[in-house]
Amino acid sequence: MLNGIIASEGIAIGKAVIHVAQEISLPDYPVAPENVPSEFARFTQARSETIKQLDSLYNSVLAKLGEEEAEVFEGHMEIADDEALEEEVLELIESGICAPLAVHKVIENNVSTLLQLDGDYLRERAADFRDVGSRIIKIMLGLSTEGLSNLDDNSIVLANDLTPSDTAQLDLNKVLGFVTEIGGCTSHSAIMARSLEIPALVGCQNACSDIKHGDPLILDAINNRLIANPTPEQLDEAVAVQNQLKADKQALLQYKDTTTVTKDGRHFELCANIGTPKDAEAAVANGADGIGLYRTEFLFMDRSSMPSEQIQFDAYKTVAQTMNGKSVIIRTLDIGGDKELPYLELPKELNPFLGWRAIRMCLDRPEILQTQLRAILRASAFGKLRIMFPMVIAVSEVKQLKAHVENAKASLRAEHIAFDENIEIGIMIETPAAVMIADQLIEHLDFFSIGTNDLTQYILAVDRGNENIAHLYDSFSPSVLRAIKQVIDASHAAGKWTGMCGEFAGDAQAALILAGMGLDEFSMSAPSILKIKKELLKQDSSELAELSRQCLHAQDADEVRQIIAAFSA
Ligand code: PEP
Ligand code: MG
Repeated sequence: MLNGIIASEGIAIGKAVIHVAQEISLPDYPVAPENVPSEFARFTQARSETIKQLDSLYNSVLAKLGEEEAEVFEGHMEIADDEALEEEVLELIESGICAPLAVHKVIENNVSTLLQLDGDYLRERAADFRDVGSRIIKIMLGLSTEGLSNLDDNSIVLANDLTPSDTAQLDLNKVLGFVTEIGGCTSHSAIMARSLEIPALVGCQNACSDIKHGDPLILDAINNRLIANPTPEQLDEAVAVQNQLKADKQALLQYKDTTTVTKDGRHFELCANIGTPKDAEAAVANGADGIGLYRTEFLFMDRSSMPSEQIQFDAYKTVAQTMNGKSVIIRTLDIGGDKELPYLELPKELNPFLGWRAIRMCLDRPEILQTQLRAILRASAFGKLRIMFPMVIAVSEVKQLKAHVENAKASLRAEHIAFDENIEIGIMIETPAAVMIADQLIEHLDFFSIGTNDLTQYILAVDRGNENIAHLYDSFSPSVLRAIKQVIDASHAAGKWTGMCGEFAGDAQAALILAGMGLDEFSMSAPSILKIKKELLKQDSSELAELSRQCLHAQDADEVRQIIAAFSA
């Protein structure tokens, strides 16, 4: 039995699938002239196997999902079978380069040519080349070519780590939950697990070595344990808890259409955080008052090249329409930190969370920002959209960002394209700098949304994704609470409002203090909304205000928890 950190609550009963992300280390041995034919045969055999694998992928995707989804594998087969590719590989082998390295060089040559050309299609072809190349190379090196997209039913994925794009790839018809050896509960894979409503444990050390591929497994992300080869009694118990969770969820649905007001009439907005347009449906199903955070970077990460203005517009418009007039806060691209974009070729940084991320990158690459702002503005004609910028540290940044919005507006006006002239602009408060100057920032803005996931890591200097210091990462720390209070007060003094879209807003205990501090809007993963609503409906706002006053004066996070426990008892 192993323990980790609960990233997303629930119970899954299935079979362990150990996912090993392979770093391909390319061999570099010389090839003597007499060995050229056998080295070349090594390539042609791997290529035949590649085509066989691609053909079977094509057929299974065709049967399951249809022609459009299967087409990509047809394209991959064409690349593998390409005569020019074969000739170029042969030429390099003849010059003394071994087959795996030769394939790598030929593929990368093709990729760099394609990347210099204009157009999404060609850039996507570049990614296809890389995919095919790595399949041929892996086969030559005897490595597995199975990814996360091709798993058996009832899989529970165990991995050292899953990137957000790994998580996005999971086929939820097959995968019941996941476990990672590293990571904390606000890492993006953890956040996605909550949105996807699949149980997940992170920071579960040695999961991949102590559990064997194919082991029957209970992933118990309620009691924080991972049980391999469970006994019949343990299985019965797990099924009983699963049924109870289902019943609890069903019971909460009675609050779906209830407005969130305390007993004495204080009103709060409860919104959902989403990563894809499809998530907006879960927001509606859980009675969200709006979308408090649309993390647009997943739209950028799901692909092999930058999404065009039209693709972005379609996504934002879909969300606006799904929410049917309710507010949708669209956050501009927040890439960097633990979220990578391979086609942007971001430089490797020593401290990515303190690095060239979010608006820092966007202000240096204004064409990316302009495209996104135009897409958001165009979509604003179809609902109530708001723009939100992440990672701000200075008033001058806000001024520059607003100038970019004005630019995008002017270009749309010139083209007679409709948009909401009065679209509201806000920022995330996620840096200590922004907290300290909240009173100055708010003068230029319509609202704040506090991003406690980052704010906590920056205030406490504790990496949000490092399981070794996960016990130090605590948003209940009075230092974080005081920062939150300062921000809410600064916005209210200016007659503006503050929301929160960090994970803290979806914590039932935290919600009491936050409501007591006067937070106006709470945004969280959709499945948490009704639980928080039920909690707030029972409360009296002056009692909550008193509770939050006490918490702000506590000496440490544990004392804060004790104060809340005493309050709730
Ligand atoms: C945050 O930092 O609290 C936040 C909501 O943004 P993200 O988790 O995407 O960094
Ligand atoms: Mg953040």
